[in-house]
Amino acid sequence: MERVYNFSAGPANLPVPVLEKAAKELVNYGEAGMSVMEMSHRSKMYIDIFDQAKNLLIELMNIPDNYKVLFLQGGASTQFAMVPLNLFKNKKADYVNTGEWSKKAIAEAKRYGTINVVASSEDKIFSYIPELDSSTFSSDADYFHITLNNTIYGTRYTELPDTGNIPLVTDMSSNILSEVIDINKFGLIYAGAQKNIGPAGVAVVIIREDLVGSALDITPTMLNYKTHVGNDSMFNTPPTYGIYVAKLVFEWLKDLGGVPAIQKINEHKAGLLYEYLDNSNMFKGTVATKDRSLMNIPFVTGNDELDNQFVKEAEKAGFVNLKGHRSVGGMRASIYNPMPVEGVTKLIEFMKKFEIDNKNK
Ligand SMILES: *Cc1c(COP(=O)(O)O)cnc(C)c1O
Repeated sequence: MERVYNFSAGPANLPVPVLEKAAKELVNYGEAGMSVMEMSHRSKMYIDIFDQAKNLLIELMNIPDNYKVLFLQGGASTQFAMVPLNLFKNKKADYVNTGEWSKKAIAEAKRYGTINVVASSEDKIFSYIPELDSSTFSSDADYFHITLNNTIYGTRYTELPDTGNIPLVTDMSSNILSEVIDINKFGLIYAGAQKNIGPAGVAVVIIREDLVGSALDITPTMLNYKTHVGNDSMFNTPPTYGIYVAKLVFEWLKDLGGVPAIQKINEHKAGLLYEYLDNSNMFKGTVATKDRSLMNIPFVTGNDELDNQFVKEAEKAGFVNLKGHRSVGGMRASIYNPMPVEGVTKLIEFMKKFEIDNKNK
């Protein structure tokens, strides 16, 4: 069977050249005589792979020297607990509620301290990023948390809140490496790998040095950033193969011209789909125009039956995983870095045809 266009929100599609390279090296990596999966994480050969992965990420994201880069396990969801456990001093933090992932982060942080939800877009099914008023921010918060791109609802911040000296913490799971960001604006960034970095099983944490080392006493060793900073992510066995595939993705991205180049491509891809949605008589985007994500694009026909029919027929035509999240309904096209422009243009052609074929419904 031919490869499909996979619009899954995560785990998501990977660049074909990356999969091919991994396949080529799967059984025998270079001169190793074994698979990367079989290597000791303490071996020189594996440490080289690890260092390359880390250094490529530092280069691609332009990460300054005063930040540490960690490759951990437990997904983004474990960070919902690690952030408060490690950053709480006053045991107080501000959060913006922009959807399911924000809610989960808030619920977890509440187990350890006082959470001030400074704004929410729940009143309109999270279809926009709420205005933030800095007079509502807590002056004694240990950090300020936002979900930079909301995978389920398809919104993204285009402007960051000014939190002064209070560290800005962000969940960047679904838009890391998709557009240029200034790391200096953040105290801590975390992301699960399975959307824009590589296979599931790896979580990336980028943390400013001064935020490491003052975890709450109750913090388990494995959930203390200091443990992992002190051991360069090798306190225990890291997700070795996942980090290796991430390295291949970073190489692919670098060859393409890095983040500025992929940002242009992403803006182009998303722009094509939004333009079509804005002009279609059948399909409509669900998100406030100014807050539209470049990565996750939800849309509806307004008719559940027609939505279902569309998802089914799209799948038959090789456009898979277009069903929207149950909380929004309709459809969602996740178009992460590896989705080729052609995947989007062909989807639009398919939608146009579907619109003509079903115009009387
Ligand atoms: C997918 C996702 C998560 C959950 O990631 P896991 O690695 O499955 O824990 C958290 N936040 C955002 C924004 C996501 O897109």
